[in-house]
Amino acid sequence: MKPEHAQLLTRLISEHPYLSREVNRYSIHGAIEKIYTLHGLEPDNIEKLLLEWPHVSKDEARIAFTQSPSHGEADRQTVTTLGRYLTKCFPNAKSNVIRDVAALYQVSGCSFTERSVTAYVYAVQNGPASCMKWGDSVSLDQHPYSVYDPKYGWHMAINRMGDEIWGRCLCLDDGSHKVFVRSYHQPSSGQGYSNSDTVLEAWLCDQGYEHVDSWPEGAKVALISRHDGNYLMPYLDGRVQCVSRADDCFVIESRGEWGASSTNGVTYENEYCNCCDEVTTETNGIGYNGSHGSVCDHCADRHYTYVLGCHGQAYYIRNEDAIEVSGEYYDSDYLDDNKIVLVTRGADKDTYFHLDETVLDIHGEVWCKTDADIVLLQHGSHEGSFVPREETWQCDGTGFHYFDEDESKVIDGKKYHFDFELSDEVSTQSAEVFNEIK
Ligand SMILES: [Zn+2]
Repeated sequence: MKPEHAQLLTRLISEHPYLSREVNRYSIHGAIEKIYTLHGLEPDNIEKLLLEWPHVSKDEARIAFTQSPSHGEADRQTVTTLGRYLTKCFPNAKSNVIRDVAALYQVSGCSFTERSVTAYVYAVQNGPASCMKWGDSVSLDQHPYSVYDPKYGWHMAINRMGDEIWGRCLCLDDGSHKVFVRSYHQPSSGQGYSNSDTVLEAWLCDQGYEHVDSWPEGAKVALISRHDGNYLMPYLDGRVQCVSRADDCFVIESRGEWGASSTNGVTYENEYCNCCDEVTTETNGIGYNGSHGSVCDHCADRHYTYVLGCHGQAYYIRNEDAIEVSGEYYDSDYLDDNKIVLVTRGADKDTYFHLDETVLDIHGEVWCKTDADIVLLQHGSHEGSFVPREETWQCDGTGFHYFDEDESKVIDGKKYHFDFELSDEVSTQSAEVFNEIK
């Protein structure tokens, strides 16, 4: 800073206490000095610039400044892009000058760490929040990022501000791919969800890296067994989160038999949905004891029905194989196990019912027991059996139903059972009995 500017700053600090706080807290943004040393440019209004005390913003990607003394007293800073701020303070600077100076600061903190898993794990443990940032007690060889062995092309880019790692991004250069999937940038609160580090990503693209949505098929990670016998495996960023076992490593594959999306840092055996063929963590068994595999919740909801089936057990089967009876569903292959029968005659023909809601007639046909056309005979040759109403007749003397073939007699145009005694006395008695039965 020029001596006259330093004197001006001292005066301004004495007039505005907030400025002393800002000056102690932050260095003035390096771009202000740089635009002077590289291009000999001075700000339009040096007093205003000093009062604004521009400095690197907390997200490191931009510039923060105090818009007015009243903002300063309230400790409120405004954040903007470096290019926009420089244009405001140096209105006479050419746009390419502004752009070049801004670019210097945009990526000034970006670099690659040394190629070792120690450095990678350090960046994860000391960088932005992520599900792979574990407690301090985890040892290097037990941290899942240990699988990103440099010999397979893995390396780590970081965005530093001073000693702090504000951004990190795992990269892969395996000879045929030079890619990254996801970068992490420290949230301003220090905790919570980390967004992408746009500066770091821009810097990587400038280095010839491609931003892809998942690690390439066939990329390798190291096979490291944990003390509990499980294999170390980080949460793989991106779309593909499965791996397959090779002799001496794991290979990233979308159809891998092992899962790599656990935040516990280990692999687990993948389950594939028997319907949509996608990896799933949900298991809804199809058939008795899951004899036909399992489906994901999504497919179970749409294409499968939860039924009572073999041995009265509950499981999923295809919608078209399920039978509904009074609001419950059953496996059509195991209706006997659940006492479900098909009605074969009468008004409910071809409808399924619970066994205890049906009756069997003398021909072996199944009826719904509430059907008006089936009669339980209390007398005659088929006493105690169900007979279709059309095969019965009613005694005009007693009102009893008899099977068609039971002997009858017709007197005065009325039909009586053969044994019925047509005397006044008996006829009166019978009429009483009939009335009681009715
Ligand atoms: Zn599915």
